[in-house]
Amino acid sequence: MTLAPDDPQNPLERCKAILADLVAFPSVSSDGNRDITDYLARKLEGYGARVTVMPDETGRQANLLATLGPEGRDDGVILSGHTDVVPVADQSWTHDPFTLTEQDGRLYGRGSCDMKGFVAACVAMAPVLGARNLARPVHFAFTHDEEVGCFGAQRLTEWMKRQGISARAAIIGEPSLMQVIEGHKGCYEYSTHVTGLEGHGSSPELGVNAVEYAARIAVKLAELREALKTRAPAGCPFDPPHSTINIGGLQGGQAHNIIPGTARLDWEMRPVQDSDAGFVKAELAALCTHLQDQMRTRHPQAEIRTRTIAEVVGLIPETDNPARALMMALTGANGAGLVPFGTEAGLFQGIGIASVICGPGSIAQAHKPDEYIEISQLARCLDVLDGLADALCHPA
Ligand SMILES: [Zn+2]
Repeated sequence: MTLAPDDPQNPLERCKAILADLVAFPSVSSDGNRDITDYLARKLEGYGARVTVMPDETGRQANLLATLGPEGRDDGVILSGHTDVVPVADQSWTHDPFTLTEQDGRLYGRGSCDMKGFVAACVAMAPVLGARNLARPVHFAFTHDEEVGCFGAQRLTEWMKRQGISARAAIIGEPSLMQVIEGHKGCYEYSTHVTGLEGHGSSPELGVNAVEYAARIAVKLAELREALKTRAPAGCPFDPPHSTINIGGLQGGQAHNIIPGTARLDWEMRPVQDSDAGFVKAELAALCTHLQDQMRTRHPQAEIRTRTIAEVVGLIPETDNPARALMMALTGANGAGLVPFGTEAGLFQGIGIASVICGPGSIAQAHKPDEYIEISQLARCLDVLDGLADALCHPA
């Protein structure tokens, strides 16, 4: 006997059907995720969840928080995923990226792996969870704009903090082949814009050379990178075991004989601890203030301004982590690992919720043309979520 897709006994078929629907919403970060969020809200409401949709000020982006199980408890589990995807422009796909295609045990489509597969698995398990007598709640947290800097999750976690909503554990379903991941560095990106004064190259004193000032900032960043090595916390598990800085670009100027009026320095740091980020920002701010004062003695409108592109906070491994313990028990893992990419996990940790990453599919398939997820990975994820449903029937 084959079970109908909507039969609670058949979560894998339901998961595939939901994933097909999710992939059909392009939801590329910049284009907005409102339609896919409204779809998920309807679906989860249909399964009996209490759903809140939180649009941003444009109305085009939205977060969703949905809860099944008892109200007003802080010992539940959060299942977190993002609904935006990276663009397909300039990639050569052999499949239609927005039509889920099954072939040889794989499901192809943009976001199938990163990370609509996990979102589909969570929603497919909602009727199973809803049918159980849950002693603790399960929350579905689906956010916007992860791929461009976790802006949705930042808004959601701030909102949760204001509302006093907490949980015992957060599972971030970024692709980890269902391995339990307990840490990653932060990833902070900045552009420092220097505005000087253009002039003829033959009279350096009559201009303010923006490229020269940007270069002095670059030298300072390189010095700070060395200083960060000496600030490394003992036993730091990351590779390399300290915070790093990279200067990714320095642009400015037009010709050999013109004093450049503007310059831009693109740089990033990957902190292993908050204090390192604070240290770099304070040191750099002091230098920039000093340089700007100097520039303004010749040109009062001169300016140095650092724009934050994104600050994806790190997930710092913790000795006592109930989320890690829970997911190791549910997956049978005997340890937890680290990943080199950033996720929204650190934001949940930042509001005091123990967090780990554990999701279906491999990061190697993410963001690529012909992105896919193995169906066996979805099945594995559904099994683990089924175990979670059992766990939630008992007190923590
Ligand atoms: Zn992702």
